[in-house]
Amino acid sequence: ESSSVQEYLQSQIRTIPDWPHKGILFRDITTLFENPEAWRKTVDVMVQRYEKQAFDRIGALDARGFLLGSTLAYILNKPLILFRKKGKLPGKTISVEYDLEYGKAILEMHEDTILPGEKVLLMDDLIATGGTLLAADQLIQKAGASTLEAAAIINLPDLKGADRLNAAGIPTYALCNFE
Ligand code: AMP
Repeated sequence: ESSSVQEYLQSQIRTIPDWPHKGILFRDITTLFENPEAWRKTVDVMVQRYEKQAFDRIGALDARGFLLGSTLAYILNKPLILFRKKGKLPGKTISVEYDLEYGKAILEMHEDTILPGEKVLLMDDLIATGGTLLAADQLIQKAGASTLEAAAIINLPDLKGADRLNAAGIPTYALCNFE
């Protein structure tokens, strides 16, 4: 994104050191939600990027990705699908196990929520290792569909998640980077 937009959004995101673990700089987007001008800018830039692109659904990641995903789905008039942590979806699901910083986790999707051949735009708050977005892409592939792009408000380039996603054939887009 243009450097002025990047700098503005970076300035509106709060950093909390040593949370949830010592040594982590937590990038807290609740301050974006509390600032209507900053949240509007976040949404507007995403809308400008995706309003002219062809895709079928927006896939939002549990839980902070739901906020951006649902806002974009409303504005772009696209079906919204949810990628959730294990045990939250009531219907029949397909699931994938993936690595977290400490241990493993399971991501789930309703099995009948995507049709073969469809293109899904993935949205989350932040790309760290990229593990969660990769897991979502695996579920999309299991359904015979593909990922248009993985979009996030923040990318942490040092953790190389975007590189990992790109190497797996998934384009990425973020509004700002925190080194
Ligand atoms: P990952 O799968 O490693 O890309 O990260 C998964 C999720 O963990 C991200 O979507 C964020 O919600 C959260 N996360 C990881 N690192 C941070 C961080 N430094 N600040 C805020 N959230 C983070």
